[in-house]
Amino acid sequence: MAHKITLIKGDGTGPEITDATVKCIEATGVKVDWELAEAGQDVMAKYGTPLPDSTIESIRKNKVALKGPITTPIGTGFRSVNVALRKMLNLYACVRPCKYYEGVRSKYQNVDLVIVRENMEDLYAGIEFEAGSEGAGKLIEFIAKNQGAKILPDSGISIKPISKTGTERIVKFAFEYARKYGRKKVTSVTKANIMKHSDGLFMKTAEEVAKKYSDIEYEHRLVDNMCMQLVQKPELYDVLVLPNLYGDIISDLCAGLVGGLGVAAGANIGSEYAVFEATHGSAPQYAGKNKVNPTALILSGVLMLKHIGEEKAADKLEKAVAGVIKEGKSVTYDMKPSRDDPTAVGTKEMAEAIIRKMS
Ligand code: NAD
Repeated sequence: MAHKITLIKGDGTGPEITDATVKCIEATGVKVDWELAEAGQDVMAKYGTPLPDSTIESIRKNKVALKGPITTPIGTGFRSVNVALRKMLNLYACVRPCKYYEGVRSKYQNVDLVIVRENMEDLYAGIEFEAGSEGAGKLIEFIAKNQGAKILPDSGISIKPISKTGTERIVKFAFEYARKYGRKKVTSVTKANIMKHSDGLFMKTAEEVAKKYSDIEYEHRLVDNMCMQLVQKPELYDVLVLPNLYGDIISDLCAGLVGGLGVAAGANIGSEYAVFEATHGSAPQYAGKNKVNPTALILSGVLMLKHIGEEKAADKLEKAVAGVIKEGKSVTYDMKPSRDDPTAVGTKEMAEAIIRKMS
């Protein structure tokens, strides 16, 4: 039976890379009944919002979506459509594998790690008080009274909530992921020595959860030390679990270790729904030019195939992507030794080369 999956093409270069990805997924032989849903700045005029209710309903119905990048429209009340989607669907885990593929131009050849980032809490909770506002004033007064701490009156304040519930959920997710995919070690990353009641709680909770997974090694690293370790010896790490902000920063650092945004896949997963998307944005300057690299979204498609139980198809597609990258012929401009290399192919042609590799 065909899998019913919501397809959001997004805007900017989104439609080109989603078309390429859909073709690659279909070429694995897996049957998918795509349900098209709209989102992004291109649908603002039609719906008065970049995120129509029908799109959310489609994902709620089908449980799984493949999504192209979406530009954050300015002046709509949405900080980001992508963040809104994650919040509305309670997609609490952001999973970003960072793996080196032979042929990718990178200083590191031995990286194969997975970032599990908490997606709902921390400084991304969106609770902020503007400098000079009544709220900021009251908070400063409250803190002075209760903690005896002086905050300058012209300060802006952002709140960093981290809960035991949210931490248990994400750390459990990281261990379950490690078990499912045969990973050996989970490393939690915080700044617990400085933020004892937020990061400290994350660290303590992670230690507690780890006790239930004696088959998997567990360790903790401070985020500053982790940055240095990742640059010096990334091969020592396997699955990293982090609060939202450090997860965001370390994800980009690790994407850089394995060749950059063009190959960085991602998934946002909750207990009911999952949305698969590349780490990169809509690269609007290249929209309609058949130029950008489809690999990150195709590899997100690989994660999606695994999620829906199509492991064999996922392996076949990943091997084909790896084969095309290794050959280095039918790849987009960003994977060539120089960015103006005349032998670079377009988005569509790279996808076609991947499809040929599967046949
Ligand atoms: P971007 O990722 O779109 O682009 C950053 C740089 O990377 C650019 O130089 C671009 O040319 C290059 N790049 C990106 N994807 C590429 C690809 N597939 N192949 C080759 N090169 C690629 O980031 P930005 O410019 O900061 O953001 C553009 C818009 O995308 C913003 O509105 C932002 O909010 C949005 N965004 C959306 C998502 C998402 O949908 N999940 C994620 C990040 C940013």
